[in-house]
Amino acid sequence: MQPVYFLPKENFPAFLEALKGLGRVYAPVKVSKQSYSFKAVEKASEIAFEALRTILPPKKFFYPPSETLISYDDGRILEYQEVPEFKVIFGVHPCDLAGLGIMDTIFEDGPADSHYVRRRRMSMLVGLSCMPDKHCFCQSMGTDCPEKGYDIFLTDIEDGYFLQSQSTMGSAFLDGSGMNGILERAREAHKDRYKEFWIRRKDAFSIGFAPDNLRATMDMEWDNPVWDELGNRCLSCGNCTPVCPTCYCFDLVDVASLSGDSGERRREWDSCQFTGFAQVAGDFNFRPGPVDRLKFWYRHKLHGFDDAYGFKTCVGCGRCTVSCPSGIDDIVAVVNILQNSKKAEGKSDAT
Ligand code: SF4
Ligand code: SF4
Repeated sequence: MQPVYFLPKENFPAFLEALKGLGRVYAPVKVSKQSYSFKAVEKASEIAFEALRTILPPKKFFYPPSETLISYDDGRILEYQEVPEFKVIFGVHPCDLAGLGIMDTIFEDGPADSHYVRRRRMSMLVGLSCMPDKHCFCQSMGTDCPEKGYDIFLTDIEDGYFLQSQSTMGSAFLDGSGMNGILERAREAHKDRYKEFWIRRKDAFSIGFAPDNLRATMDMEWDNPVWDELGNRCLSCGNCTPVCPTCYCFDLVDVASLSGDSGERRREWDSCQFTGFAQVAGDFNFRPGPVDRLKFWYRHKLHGFDDAYGFKTCVGCGRCTVSCPSGIDDIVAVVNILQNSKKAEGKSDAT
């Protein structure tokens, strides 16, 4: 078992300085009255420790909204490979760690996406505990406890943080001489407070659903009238997908010079909620209406990857709910309606 440590809160600035010695540190920063964003920080006072969900999840560091894949010039094609700088991403909550774990699996599944993998290998993830608000349902999706995906994880135990490491890099950092005088070995009292925190957090969730019959529910409730109501109100704005820690669909865009001699091929985030996403030659659209696209998205998030990977691609962060201008993308409310309908009652995915 890896050693566990205690970081008194008054030592956090020194801890941050040590992290900065590894590379540029990014952390949640308050950017408006109610929004937070991961940004580069220099001082501890810039970090919004209270932030629950940032506007965009940390996937943006490894899979940016827009990037050049290849360029061409005078008949030559050049693969564009950025040389990434080392980044420390601080303040990643359990749902976002789970989201990055899902992105790692998808992007590293052969053939690996070299652009993503290169950036990911040049990073350290420092997780941070949180308390759920009225939109969090990571408990229902089984992503509420940080089991993997971090290098170091900090649990807030009031006057300090309980520190765990999970990777060779994280352990080397915590065990290194640079931490002398900053960290203490965790004592029994710290361990007790750590356990109390996670019990208190478990009891703090106010919303959720039973996750064991999502496939059966979606199959049996495919024609439930709630879908038409949601489809009628959906604006097809696509807000719900860029904010999702596990949405990764993209479009390829060629940007040519006016002469046509040079240009580049770019990868841009796309959204399955856009009208043209499933449009093909002959003007045929596999998912022509908002209701078709919404149902597709729910199925993808709630059980679409069960067979291929054995996990669900919703981590319960609540970003889609808070980002929907129509107030309809409330997964918990929709699943509750579907599960409480007569057809889904008492069914499980195993039966
Ligand atoms: S579907 Fe919504 S709640 Fe689930 S991970 Fe994506 S943004 Fe978060
Ligand atoms: S954010 Fe809401 S309105 Fe926009 S596409 Fe998603 S469900 Fe529809």
